[in-house]
Amino acid sequence: MGPAVTTAAPDAACLAPLALTHPEKPVSTYRRYQHAATAGAVLLTAAAVGAVLHHQYVPACGFAFGVLVLAEAALREHRRHRRAQLECEWARRRALGERPAPLDPCCLLARASHGQAHDRQCTGEHSLGRFIAQVEAEHRDGGA
Ligand SMILES: [Zn+2]
Repeated sequence: MGPAVTTAAPDAACLAPLALTHPEKPVSTYRRYQHAATAGAVLLTAAAVGAVLHHQYVPACGFAFGVLVLAEAALREHRRHRRAQLECEWARRRALGERPAPLDPCCLLARASHGQAHDRQCTGEHSLGRFIAQVEAEHRDGGA
């Protein structure tokens, strides 16, 4: 009997952010937010230019601030979309039996906590599944 080949789909929690709204044109939630923020930034840029042309400098400063906020939001959503793509590809390769290298950072919680905590979907050595398997193995070895 050869090695078991797992053909399970990637973790559903991993695919949740990439919920497909149109099968022919997949758009992730992050991508939609990115597009909305980009459109808002373009509109606020036009409003800021219009305000400057009409010598309305105070509203122009408000519009410019809005442009900065929405541009940052668009970049953040782009990074989230890219990370979700990488995590899903990693999970797909894992499900197919490959052993892909951990992503850098291994999970977003590790980045936010400076390595003190790790996410359930951690791609490194600190995932909850691996921890539970390790504890079960230790318990099994100790109990036998
Ligand atoms: Zn991690």
